[in-house]
Amino acid sequence: MISASEALKIILDSIRPLETITAGLEQSSGSILGEEIVAPGDIPPFDNAAMDGFAVRSEDIRKVPVSLTVVGEIAAGSTPVNPLAPGEAMSIMTGAKVPAGCDVGIEQEWTERKSDNRVTILRSADPGHNIRRAGSDIRAATTVFTPGTFLRPQEIGVLASLGKRFVVIHRKPSIAILTTGNEVVEIDKPLPDGKIRNSNAYVLSALIRQLGCEARSLGIATDEKSDLKARIKEGLRADVLITTGGVSVGKYDLVMDALKETGVEIKFWKVNIKPGMPLLFGIHENKPVFGLPGNPVSAMVTFLQFVKPALMRLMGQRTYAPPLRLHARLEDEITKSDGKRHFVRGVLVNANGSIGVRTTGSQVSNILTSLSRADCLIVLPENRNQFKAGEEVEVELL
Ligand code: AMP
Ligand code: MG
Repeated sequence: MISASEALKIILDSIRPLETITAGLEQSSGSILGEEIVAPGDIPPFDNAAMDGFAVRSEDIRKVPVSLTVVGEIAAGSTPVNPLAPGEAMSIMTGAKVPAGCDVGIEQEWTERKSDNRVTILRSADPGHNIRRAGSDIRAATTVFTPGTFLRPQEIGVLASLGKRFVVIHRKPSIAILTTGNEVVEIDKPLPDGKIRNSNAYVLSALIRQLGCEARSLGIATDEKSDLKARIKEGLRADVLITTGGVSVGKYDLVMDALKETGVEIKFWKVNIKPGMPLLFGIHENKPVFGLPGNPVSAMVTFLQFVKPALMRLMGQRTYAPPLRLHARLEDEITKSDGKRHFVRGVLVNANGSIGVRTTGSQVSNILTSLSRADCLIVLPENRNQFKAGEEVEVELL
């Protein structure tokens, strides 16, 4: 059986970012950049005042208090007409361009205005105080973002300040979700004896939305090959097909056969992890196909560990960014015996100022509420089976 790292490598090696499109800046948040962004000019474009107050010359305020002649006012958006001569000050507003000769801005709170044309500076300051230099944020002609940068609201702000009305981003994948299982019924239908409601499709669609993508549900396939194949064919029209259920070793676990018979090349089946061992991955015309196990916890864990990195790559991510792992002190002992990588549902606690983690109790993989109680997954490596209370383990936040 392949390891989690091998499985992830196979997945990431099999897919490439989708093609790029040009989009309006407002539509680009949550997408990944497909072009290099070089600054056309300095940001800020000119030296300007960081606070409301007075533009002065540092040599005039070495000894304070000192009285200076107020020769004018510079509002934000206007440009000073004259340079600042010795002994002079100008009233200046935050963001206004500083006059030539000025190298200090003195905040209003450090001054006393004696009359319309006199101000007393009460505190001294070094050259550069309250002056925001041209190019201090971004220098003209420098590379600001490289292709593969995820665009969050703050990156959108930087692009706006550079005047990028349109940006080249990667197209987001279309994703189809196929639920399988004779026992699974839609959530708005009556629940006959022996049946359960379809929670997986909703969990997966919510996870996909968290990544800024949309999923289309293909409904629930029965455990019959003809029904599975018909719906799989439909799903293969999307950029990504995700199925749940039917990938185990049961008599009616027919998803793998149905995938093969619809032309999907199976790249791997079964990964040395718990939960989620029966995970299946295949490729159809360069498009990834994931067969997630039906157990709700297994489906969510395998999505986070394997489908999410694949979606990020399709969205344009150039290098895999592993989830942030924190070190936490284990509150209760965990024993495993199977040499698998385990993802244990955990709750972070404050352990005298450092991070502690306890498990949510039973780890059976159908208990969805235990994932709801959890705020992290404790990642236990393959090569060790005994974890004592008090030792450090790695956790990934949920
Ligand atoms: P399977 O992987 O098909 O063997 O299913 C494993 C377990 O997950 C069984 O108990 C199923 O009833 C359950 N299961 C399968 N699909 C879903 C689903 N869409 N929503 C909730 N539970 C499911
Ligand atoms: Mg099933």
